[in-house]
Amino acid sequence: MRPTCCIARQFCGRQRTQSSGITALVTLAGDVTSNDGRLRIAVKDNICTSSLPTTCSSAMLYHYHSPFDATSVRLLREAGAHIIGKANCDEFGMGSLNVNSVHGPVINPFQAHNALGAARDHGERRSAGGSSGGSAASVAAGICDAALGTDTGGSVRLPASYCGVVGLKPSYGLISRFGVISFADSLDCVGVLGNSVDIVKQVFSLDSVSVYDPKDPTAATDDLRKKARLASDPYIPALTSSLEGLRIGVPQEYFPSELDPSIVHILRTVLRRLEAAGASLIPVSIPATKFALSAYYVIASAEASSNLARFDGVRYGFQAPTPSGTTTTKTSDIYALSRSKGFGKEVQKRILLGTYALTADAFDNYFLQAQRVRTRIKEGFNKVFRIPCVQSALPSPPENGVDILIHPSAIRTAPPLDNISADDDGLSGLGEYLQDVMTVPVSLAGLPALSVPAGLGADGWPVGVSVVGQWGCDGFVLRVGEAIE
Ligand code: GLN
Repeated sequence: MRPTCCIARQFCGRQRTQSSGITALVTLAGDVTSNDGRLRIAVKDNICTSSLPTTCSSAMLYHYHSPFDATSVRLLREAGAHIIGKANCDEFGMGSLNVNSVHGPVINPFQAHNALGAARDHGERRSAGGSSGGSAASVAAGICDAALGTDTGGSVRLPASYCGVVGLKPSYGLISRFGVISFADSLDCVGVLGNSVDIVKQVFSLDSVSVYDPKDPTAATDDLRKKARLASDPYIPALTSSLEGLRIGVPQEYFPSELDPSIVHILRTVLRRLEAAGASLIPVSIPATKFALSAYYVIASAEASSNLARFDGVRYGFQAPTPSGTTTTKTSDIYALSRSKGFGKEVQKRILLGTYALTADAFDNYFLQAQRVRTRIKEGFNKVFRIPCVQSALPSPPENGVDILIHPSAIRTAPPLDNISADDDGLSGLGEYLQDVMTVPVSLAGLPALSVPAGLGADGWPVGVSVVGQWGCDGFVLRVGEAIE
């Protein structure tokens, strides 16, 4: 079942969209409907493009035009792709619902269907998920063949799940971050969204995006990539037409009380199908998972507070005009005024939280503690995979370990947009943070994860399941994704 194309009409060039409708793409490069055989790719608006503005969906960068292409964009262009435009997102990538954007929220283009396959809920406005909501919605609406997003704590997988498309968050360091406007450097990954695992695979490996880049100091070296391939090779060849020999772990911590029961049902159906194809299902446990969400928000906010310090209205970004009647030219006043007006509420909240976590008083209890949790989570994953982690010299992995993990991508289907307002405590604030509970552990561990549409929830909206692999086993994860599709 394909989503209907209900948002393609929105654009005709760049415009402020609070008044003009709800947008998936915020800037267009020419005619997006022209089909010259090239792969049409939308690029999240926090990834630099020399031909189009890069706003990060923020008033702070509303007029920013990068002089260069991000490495991922350059490589795609060199491989012959057509960059069709820039995709709306949560401001600087901060959010799970794509409502924190100077361009306005993104409407999910999926048209819900009832159990008999008839369209229903016509006109219901649901979130496309965030923060790569514009990328997921553009793919779901058929505006492009694939889209680049970024995933710091789930921002590719969550919108993919809500919009019914495939979303890959690669292993940390496989796709260059050069030219990606940093949110939290130790977590940020460029990801790929598409309507099928095959198209995601094409874009990911197009001999292009997933290569070592000397301009990214955290890029994985060729040597490390090769080691990871060699480590997983013994397990992949067995996966031809059947899944005989594949060991799938089902982590018990991924069934919180907030998880919608219809999602559990869909996950069970997928697991039974894989088992019938020859895979074994093994319950596993990663105990530190329960601390992941808190650790993520401390670490991501701390890194964000440092990264966003450069946007001060003097060296970078929007400079607020001096209030009438005052003559102040004090740099600190320009700085405070520009940041108060240039950043949205959510970004300001993260900067405050992150700055606090890094103060001498709070550092040990918050930042260091969160880093300890991160280490425990990495160890937890390494204890369940039988494929060794090539990034660190660890004791041998368990022989009876698993090859991949499968869990729900999200605790629910796309939330209705009309219930979300910047000031309510339901799905904004802590409720919004809870949407990431399934996705952040993998981000903290830097592992590859693929969200694949697996069915429709009780309300007729898409449900995704995620396949997670050991670091560098992205090909393996994509292969299992194909079996789920
Ligand atoms: N929703 C998470 C956050 O707001 C993740 C965002 C992302 O992955 N960019 O931090």
